[in-house]
Amino acid sequence: MGSKHLLAAALITVSLSAIANNENKSEVYQYLELISGTKGIGAREAGTAEEKKTADFIVNTFRSMGYHPIKQTFTFGLLQDSANIIVDSAPDAKKTIILAAHYDSTAANKGSLGAIDNGAGVAAMLAIAKNIAQLNTQPSINIRFIAFGAEENGLKGSKHYVKQLTQQPEERSQVIGMINFDTIAGGDITYVHSAHTSPYKCATDDITFNSETIIRDALLTASEKKLGNQHKYTIHPAYPGYPEGVTGEWSDHAPFACAGIPIAYVESTNFTINGEDGFDGYSQTTHSETWDCFEQSTKTACQREDEKQWGKMWHTKFDQLDTINRLFPGRLARQLSQNVTVLTEVLSKPELYLTR
Ligand SMILES: [Zn+2]
Repeated sequence: MGSKHLLAAALITVSLSAIANNENKSEVYQYLELISGTKGIGAREAGTAEEKKTADFIVNTFRSMGYHPIKQTFTFGLLQDSANIIVDSAPDAKKTIILAAHYDSTAANKGSLGAIDNGAGVAAMLAIAKNIAQLNTQPSINIRFIAFGAEENGLKGSKHYVKQLTQQPEERSQVIGMINFDTIAGGDITYVHSAHTSPYKCATDDITFNSETIIRDALLTASEKKLGNQHKYTIHPAYPGYPEGVTGEWSDHAPFACAGIPIAYVESTNFTINGEDGFDGYSQTTHSETWDCFEQSTKTACQREDEKQWGKMWHTKFDQLDTINRLFPGRLARQLSQNVTVLTEVLSKPELYLTR
């Protein structure tokens, strides 16, 4: 650790103390600015100094709440380094629920600063952790918050974590579920998915993924209670290749499902769009600026052959705070707060939502 590192740590401490004094912006939004704003860390691809800087920011933020974060380091690719940051709210409890978000970003060369993918997920997780730390009565189960590294390079952090977990049968048996926050804001509709029908490709063919919907259903119930019918989480209807409410194995929930753990995946996108490869949820918005030409009546590209943008914001130049706020005034702040509200409700009352 050089002097540059110490300076970065000092700046983070100053930034965190500044948060308390800014009354115009919510705390979760300020976390997001510190992670992915133009005056914050910004792009933070796996294995880079910026990814490490983000890990330090997460560690320091957890510490400022009174938690004791653990850094689980791992290597990937050609000896590149990354780390998962792990926090337990009640290490001695007999049951554990995991809430996780990856903190690396991708497509810096295209101009992405990783605001929605996945600065938003990390910021919300931190705000939820702070809410839990401030409860008068702690939840009856352990909440494990995990910030994963190197998700964009092939789920490296979550795969490493799950491998370690499955080598400790007792600890593994205590995990009752995993909630994945990946791109929870920015898109047109906030969904909660599970892995309940469509088979996941797990590491070997003899492994079957967990298909329970208990965690997803808990989030649905809590979102309706706290946000009302109009803003509650949505389950997408059935489309070819994507049965109702089902998601694929492209984010950190997949290794958990393959380890037999029930999962829920919160994602903000738009499954109603007939995108580049059909109704697969990769087109996040109908906003015309994110399409070369969008045909409203059929919810697809005017010319499929010519379309280049497809309403995607993740991994593109659109994934920046200023741009998202310009395209959708108020959306980001609202979606962040809604996700914090729902998950604080579920995690603070596990006996009501998570245990049968
Ligand atoms: Zn992501």
